[in-house]
Amino acid sequence: MRYAILSDVHGNLEALETVLADAGRHRPDAFLCLGDTVGYGPNPNECASRIRELGGRTIAGNHDRAAVGALDISAFSPLARAAIEWTIEVVTDETRRWIMTLPDRLEDPDFLAVHGSPRDPIEEYILDLPTSLAIFSEHPFSLCLVGHSHVPGAFVLKADGTLSARALPDGKRMRLASSDRHIVNVGSVGQPRDGDPRASYLILETEPLTATLHRLSYPIATTQEKMAAHNLPAQLSQRLALGR
Ligand code: ZN
Repeated sequence: MRYAILSDVHGNLEALETVLADAGRHRPDAFLCLGDTVGYGPNPNECASRIRELGGRTIAGNHDRAAVGALDISAFSPLARAAIEWTIEVVTDETRRWIMTLPDRLEDPDFLAVHGSPRDPIEEYILDLPTSLAIFSEHPFSLCLVGHSHVPGAFVLKADGTLSARALPDGKRMRLASSDRHIVNVGSVGQPRDGDPRASYLILETEPLTATLHRLSYPIATTQEKMAAHNLPAQLSQRLALGR
């Protein structure tokens, strides 16, 4: 199987269309979306429609839940809250109904997929080795696919107990040894935060198991113009160009 795996589209239609065009060239057998299709960006309904049309499996993220009133936004940063309040106003009934159907995890013979982490699928960030070790210890997956932090990369736990964090360089196929356990973060389509503003998505192939991250430039200025037109916070617009 070859999967194209997207996460954290965040209402950024220009980034999503760019990723889908590229992913199509890899002829994936299936698409997976790891949540936060909406929130921050100017096209939540259009992005939800495009993701739905792919017919792949999709899970819910914290912004998706917040956009339908199913998550308390008092812990959101002021910028995130400003954007989600706008999103709550503009989501259509169709988008809302679809979000309400999204599960918080996918279990597959090849992987476990969650937005945040297996022990808190909606909200926990896996950003460091101690957190990844706790999650490896508490949950018996061999491969866990995540998004949420908008920072692509992998945590690898070897059978001898050695734990490491690995970068996923653009376009480089990384073999995931079956004797190792992995947490793989696919990065963000619509709002990367690893210092690289290019949209991120992952191609995962099974037998043998490999992961290839892809980074793509997209017309950021177009997204920024739409954000300005909707009076979304300027800092959210500027960060797209910084990848922060
Ligand atoms: Zn997100």
